[in-house]
Amino acid sequence: MSCSFKFNIIFILHILAATPILSSPDNSSFNNFLDSAKTPEVFNWMVSIRRKIHENPELGYQEFETSEVIRSELHKLGIPYKHPVAITGVVAFVGTGFSPFVALRADMDALPMQEMVEWEHKSRVPGKMHACGHDAHVSMLLGAAKILKQHEKKIQGTVVLVFQPAEEGGGGAKKILDQGALENVTAIFGLHIDPELPIGEVASRAGPIMAGSGFFEAKISGKGGHAAIPQQSIDPILAASNVIISLQHIVSHEADPLDSQVVTIAKFQGGSAFNVIPDYVTIGGTFRAFSNQSFNQLRQRIEQVIIGQAAVHRCNATVDFLEDWEPFNPPTVNNEDLHEHFVNVAVNMLGVDKVDSAMTPFMGAEDFSFYQEVIPGYFFMLGVRNASHKQFESVLHSPYLEINEDGLSYGAALHASLAASYLLKHQQDLHGVERKTHDEL
Ligand SMILES: [Zn+2]
Ligand SMILES: [Zn+2]
Repeated sequence: MSCSFKFNIIFILHILAATPILSSPDNSSFNNFLDSAKTPEVFNWMVSIRRKIHENPELGYQEFETSEVIRSELHKLGIPYKHPVAITGVVAFVGTGFSPFVALRADMDALPMQEMVEWEHKSRVPGKMHACGHDAHVSMLLGAAKILKQHEKKIQGTVVLVFQPAEEGGGGAKKILDQGALENVTAIFGLHIDPELPIGEVASRAGPIMAGSGFFEAKISGKGGHAAIPQQSIDPILAASNVIISLQHIVSHEADPLDSQVVTIAKFQGGSAFNVIPDYVTIGGTFRAFSNQSFNQLRQRIEQVIIGQAAVHRCNATVDFLEDWEPFNPPTVNNEDLHEHFVNVAVNMLGVDKVDSAMTPFMGAEDFSFYQEVIPGYFFMLGVRNASHKQFESVLHSPYLEINEDGLSYGAALHASLAASYLLKHQQDLHGVERKTHDEL
C-alpha cells in the first residue's frame, strides 16, 4: 500500500509538471469554481434544493416532482433542456451548442426504506428515503449548472447535464442511452457521495472500480407431504439447502482466487408448517464480478448448479435471471485517459493529499457502467463524512444515513471543472474537423 501511495504522489507531481493546461490562462478561471460553489448564493441554494428533494423522495421512474424541481431551477437559470427523457429524466445543455460535448450525470431516485434520522428535513413519505444520496447528486449537478452558466462564454463546447431516473434498479442509464440522449458525447463523468470519506477528499481509480451485478431467482419443486413420512415426499427444502451449499463452490473453487467474485443467496422461502413438507421452495440472490467474462461464466454455472443439484435430489428447478425487471449491470470501468484528467483537476482543486487515485474497488454496482460501455466514462467518490457520526452507522442504504452538506460545494465545483477543462483540452482536437451540433440544439 505505502509503495503504491508513493508512486501515486510521484505520478501526480509528474502530471502537474507536465500538463500545460493547469497553467493555461484560459483555464485559470475554472480553478475558482470551488470558491464560486462555496458562495452563499450557490451553496445555500444547493442545500435548499437537496433538503426539498430529501423531504419528498420518489422511487425509480416515479421522480415526477423531483424532475419538476430540476426543470424549474434550470428554467430560472436560463438553461435549455429536453424532457421527458426516459420518463422522468431531464437532459440540459450549457455552452456553445457545438462540439465537443461532455456529459455530467446525476441520478434522482430514492430507496423503499423508512428514514430513521430525526431532523427538520426528514422524509415526509413513509417507507421512502434518499438513503443513497441521490438528492445530493441532483443538487450538486444543478450547482455545477449554475456555475457553468456563470462562465458560459468561456466554455469551449457543450456540457450535457444528465438527470437520470432509476439507478437503484430499472436500468435508468440504459434507457437514457436508448433514447439517443447522449449522441456525439465523447466523455461522461459521474460521482457518488461517500459518507465515510472526509469533506474535501475524493477517491477513485483507473480501470474496474465497481462490479458487474445480476440477480436470480429459482423455483425448486419436489412433492409435498407429511413431515413424519418423508419417504412419500420429494423434499425441496433439503434439495434447496444443497443447491445453496453447491453454489458457494463456484466462487471458492472454480473462480480464480485473484479475480474477485460473489454469489450470495439472500432469499429462501418455503413451507408454512412444522409438520408439512412443501411442494416447492424459492431461493434468490445476487452475483457479482469485475469482468464480463467472469460475470457470464458465473451466470452459466449458477443455472447449471441449481438445475443439476436439484436433480440429484429428484427435484425440478427453473432459474430466472430477472432481466426484464433489472437488467444486468456491467462492471464500472474507468477510462485511463479520463483518470489522468480527473487526478489533474482534483489535485489542482483539492491538493495532492486529498486525492486517493488508487482506491480499492468494491463489489457494489452502479448503472453508470451502461454509459461506460459506449462512451469513455469516469466515476469517483466524494467525501461527505460527518465527523460526529458513528462509524458504520451513517452508510449508504442505511436508514441512519446523514451527510455533511459542506460536501455539496466540492461536488458541484468538481463536476463543473471536470467538464469545462475537458472541453478546453479537446477543443484543440477539433481543429480542422467539421463541428457537430447536438440534435437537440
Ligand atoms: Zn444505492
Ligand atoms: Zn447511489
